[in-house]
Amino acid sequence: MTEPGREVFWNINFPWIMFILAGIAVLLACYSVYIHIKRWKVGQPAGRANNWWKRTAAFIALAIPDIIFHLKFFGIEKPLRRRELFPGLMHFLIFSGFMIFLLATIVGIWETSLKGNVYLAYSVIVDGFGILAIIGILMAIYRRYIWKPKRLDRKPEDLAALLIILVAILTGFAVEGFRIAATELQTNPGWAVWSPGGWVLAKVFSGMSQSALLGWHVGLWWFHILLALWLFAYVAFVNTRLLHILWDPVNIFFRDLGPRGALAPIDLEKTEHFGADKIEDFTWKQLLDLDACTRCGRCQDACPAYAAGKALNPKQVILDLKAHLYEVYPGNLKLGKAETQREMTGGVITEEVIWDCTTCRACQQACPVYIEHIDKIIDMRRNLAMEKSQFPEAARDALKSLSTRGHPYRGTTSTRTTWTEGLEIQTVEDAKDIEILYWVGCSAALDERNMTVAKAMAKILGAAGVKFAILGDEEACCGDPARRMGDEYLFQTISQQNIEIFRSHNVKKILTTCPHCFNSFKNEYKQFGGDYEVIHHSQFLAGLLREGRLKIKNPTALKTAYHDSCYLGRYNDIYEEPREVLKAVNGSVTELPRRRTDSFCCGGGGGHMWMEEAPDKRVNERRVEEIMRSEAECVSTACPYCLTMLEDGLKAKEADDRIKAKDISELVAEAIE
Ligand code: SF4
Ligand code: SF4
Repeated sequence: MTEPGREVFWNINFPWIMFILAGIAVLLACYSVYIHIKRWKVGQPAGRANNWWKRTAAFIALAIPDIIFHLKFFGIEKPLRRRELFPGLMHFLIFSGFMIFLLATIVGIWETSLKGNVYLAYSVIVDGFGILAIIGILMAIYRRYIWKPKRLDRKPEDLAALLIILVAILTGFAVEGFRIAATELQTNPGWAVWSPGGWVLAKVFSGMSQSALLGWHVGLWWFHILLALWLFAYVAFVNTRLLHILWDPVNIFFRDLGPRGALAPIDLEKTEHFGADKIEDFTWKQLLDLDACTRCGRCQDACPAYAAGKALNPKQVILDLKAHLYEVYPGNLKLGKAETQREMTGGVITEEVIWDCTTCRACQQACPVYIEHIDKIIDMRRNLAMEKSQFPEAARDALKSLSTRGHPYRGTTSTRTTWTEGLEIQTVEDAKDIEILYWVGCSAALDERNMTVAKAMAKILGAAGVKFAILGDEEACCGDPARRMGDEYLFQTISQQNIEIFRSHNVKKILTTCPHCFNSFKNEYKQFGGDYEVIHHSQFLAGLLREGRLKIKNPTALKTAYHDSCYLGRYNDIYEEPREVLKAVNGSVTELPRRRTDSFCCGGGGGHMWMEEAPDKRVNERRVEEIMRSEAECVSTACPYCLTMLEDGLKAKEADDRIKAKDISELVAEAIE
């Protein structure tokens, strides 16, 4: 050979056997895919086989870089980026290295015309990515078996999978090394360095006789091929974590493209069975989610309930549901169905676990493969609430109050307008030409501590000359606590009543101080025909300050931290405006270690504002401990739940003298004095 290149199947007799074996492996893999699809189809319709163009565009733009680079965390908050750098890089090296090594090997088998510089470039790329994959595998072994982060569990299959891939790549290099030692090293040593993996080993083998080199080459070639094909069939057929390579792209493709903050509604007229009681009650997409889990544990790491020592672990929920799915529908060759099955809701997933969730969305934000934990938990809650009437006692009381008094504050003697005493606040009934409806919300109207937020807002709106009005006694709850506690019937009743009230007053623009009301009106009322311009007070205040409608005369002197509310941040991407407001009144913001997308829940969402928590497992106290370790003299927030939970936590930790909790509107109201 006068120019760089190599003979395909050099030294190999009967290479067609490999093609037959490869064909069998591919058929087995296709059959396995068919069985998995059959298993998912035991679930309910999901409404996700739609928007194909949008899905394809979103997949190409977002998911492909995510899949290849595992870099969901890059480009977002620094602490999270740092925390995920090692696993992100490790996955990138293994995945891209192994895939390119594999693809290039297939191209090398088929392609007979690789010659000259093309051959040399091909050779260095294949070997380069093979070496990167080896580095990635060694990082994975170090992380899983020496570093041992708490979020990773260890099963024998994990080590086996890593070692099999490692051996497959190393034997690939050894085969190349024997070939180079027998050919290029003697005739064209300049070419050999372009295959660095094989070249290093060829140097090691160079003392062997020609016949030994030929013998080792052919023997190891077949071992390498059989191992690679077995690995392929094993990945497709045996239910190991390696299967996520197949299902993750599919799961990402079918992910929820709707507003993040909206739970799927139940068609109450047509549905006879509410929520998920059995595994078949989940949708096919929810079942696909279970297969897509990589067991990476990022959701476990992010979960405030788990961090506070509660029974809930989102990763375990997914793994337990998956184990249950395979228990009820077993079989690799033929899909079976178990005659008897364990109770799922309240059994496989205990009631305690189901009620522990604050719906903070940290798990879903962290999950690299877009698994949707919350809707599964809410579906199980719906079953407990609507079919079995099984609630924690305090949740039952809150829902009862919601249904009879229009708010979840059971013991209050305040009315919707108590906070307006001494102020001149118009109701929509009396007002004319209002700019915006100020939806006060249950907390600011009825909870004594939060009434100061409503008063602060009234003062600010007055100072800025905003024409606003409130609904007064016509205002009720937005329904969020009912929906998050699983009582979909009550939520839909409330939302339809509110939509009717808005319609009767021709309401188009709504201002809220509560991110839960904001999320319901903005993302969920559309499901029932209510479509409004909804503005959170953090956005509105930032706008007033930007426009110069508010003048800061008395900036606060306290070092003020900002606590991101889950429903404002993770659900609705509002991170900048509250900080903009704080900078205007304070000059700067003291950032907490966990912030923005990585923020740690206050513990009040998902109905937990009204539920009891064991004193040693309080989520708010975990957050307060973090605030106490910061330099903050004041912690501000833009959510009434967070305000209550943080203030309670500061009191419980006897830190309320040192650190104040305030809503951003209170800080603005003080600053414009
Ligand atoms: S939503 Fe929050 S509390 Fe619920 S499982 Fe996910 S991380 Fe945990
Ligand atoms: S659900 Fe997502 S984040 Fe949690 S372990 Fe599975 S893949 Fe990882």
